[in-house]
Amino acid sequence: MKAAVCFEPNSRLDVVDVEQEGPRGGEARVKVKAAGVCHSDWHIMNGDWQVPLPMVLGHEAAGIVENVGPGVANVKPGDHVIFSFRPHCGRCFYCSIGRSILCDGHTSPRWLMLDGTHRLTRGGKGVNQMARIGTFSEWVVCPAEMLVPIRKEMPWPQAALIGCCVPTGWGAVNRCARVEAGASVVVIGCGGVGLNVVQGARLAGAGTIIAADLLENKLEFARQFGATHTINASQKNVAEEVRGLTAGRGAEYAFDAIGSEATTLQMLDAIRPGGTAVVVGMAPTSARSPIAPYFMALHEKTLRGTLYGSVRPNVDFPILVDLYLSGRLQIDPLVSRKYSLEDINEGFAAMRGGQVARGVVVF
Ligand SMILES: [Zn+2]
Ligand SMILES: [Zn+2]
Repeated sequence: MKAAVCFEPNSRLDVVDVEQEGPRGGEARVKVKAAGVCHSDWHIMNGDWQVPLPMVLGHEAAGIVENVGPGVANVKPGDHVIFSFRPHCGRCFYCSIGRSILCDGHTSPRWLMLDGTHRLTRGGKGVNQMARIGTFSEWVVCPAEMLVPIRKEMPWPQAALIGCCVPTGWGAVNRCARVEAGASVVVIGCGGVGLNVVQGARLAGAGTIIAADLLENKLEFARQFGATHTINASQKNVAEEVRGLTAGRGAEYAFDAIGSEATTLQMLDAIRPGGTAVVVGMAPTSARSPIAPYFMALHEKTLRGTLYGSVRPNVDFPILVDLYLSGRLQIDPLVSRKYSLEDINEGFAAMRGGQVARGVVVF
């Protein structure tokens, strides 16, 4: 079986043969049909996030359940599923209060199965799986609790994107910030996540949706997804432009889809007094942003973070599938390029070059 493995930081992924053990109790084996190329994979490839290697990367995917181990009740062979990259034990404090994204009910490292062992080996040595799934792989064995069954009419590449960038962006608006109809919204960064913040704001009925990016082609995408105004941040001051579009006050909500020192400060500057700024994009773990506590107090600003858009995958993935199939959620234009697993490094090069909304590996 072939999988794309990260053996050391700052090198290409190697597509190699690995041995896979079948599912044990509580696990399922899934034939992967499509897997998106995301910046979070890149953070591991370039050493921003230090995790034990070798590791099969990939965490945004969909596929068909082939077989299940003992005690699995939520999926069965033949089910079409989207992978969730967060566990969902169903028993811990966070699962019990409906915030399963923060689930802390498992103690094993998050690149191993729940019993702390590997299902993948190469030359007798264990190979880790990103987020316990590792979807740049022809088949995945993983905890069944990380699989969400969906309607079978859903096309594969579009289903895959509901595993990461779509819920992260849509959920940031509709589950975390709960933007109300008519509100003004700023989105900084218009890649896969940012474009879904834009369309999440459109679906929430936001009145003014201002998108900022350094690249003109991404701003064009943003207009397609519902941005009412765009700012080229390589030429203009984002906060000043936003104030110009919001009666001089600033926006009610801002979303940073990138996660960096500069963009966090930019979005705090772009919201009005009493406004809310949300960190959505996943930064390198070493990134720091020097906010001004005085102005946070003086202007009663709120700064908060969201992981995975604060969605509940079992509830929200099927909702997003319904929204897509009824024509209200755009995912087709996000799938701007498709690759075979062998060409996966081209996918990362195109993502780094800002040439694509999202690249998807199809199997
Ligand atoms: Zn991702
Ligand atoms: Zn839990």
